[in-house]
Amino acid sequence: MNIALIAHDKKKQEILHFTIAYKHILKNHQLFATGTTGGKITDGAGLAVHRFQSGPLGGDQQIGAKIANNEMDAIIFFRDPLTAQPHEPDVSALMRLCDVHLIPLATNPAAAEIMIQALARGDFEWRQILKHNRQEGKNI
Ligand code: PGA
Repeated sequence: MNIALIAHDKKKQEILHFTIAYKHILKNHQLFATGTTGGKITDGAGLAVHRFQSGPLGGDQQIGAKIANNEMDAIIFFRDPLTAQPHEPDVSALMRLCDVHLIPLATNPAAAEIMIQALARGDFEWRQILKHNRQEGKNI
C-alpha cells in the first residue's frame, strides 16, 4: 500500500516514535511524507521514504494530488490542533480530498494504531480491488 506520513512540528517526535514502533509493518509498504517529517523518519527509524516538499511549501498539496489520482491508500497525519499553521488551507484541502475519495485518514496516534493493525491484518485489500476496477474504467 502507498502510505503518506505527515506531522506538524510539535508532533514530529510522536510520529518518529510511531514509525519506530511499527517499523516491522511499515517496511512492507511504500512510504511517502512531507519533507521534514520524511527526513526525520528516514534518519530516526531507518525506513525508506519518498519525500515531497515541506508541508508549508506545498508538500500537503503534493500528497493531495496523489490522493486525487487514486495513488494513496492511507494517510497518517499527526496534526497539532493547538498551534496555528501558516498552511492551514492546504491541511484542510488534504483532509477534504481524503473524504472525497474515501481514503482512510488517521489524525492522531490512537487512530493511527488502529489503522496500522488493520493494515497488518490485510483489511486494506479492498483498495487494490478498487484501484483495479478504476483502471478498468468501472466506477466502483
Ligand atoms: P513538514 O510538513 O513535514 O515538511 O514539516 C508537515 C506539515 O506541516 O504539513
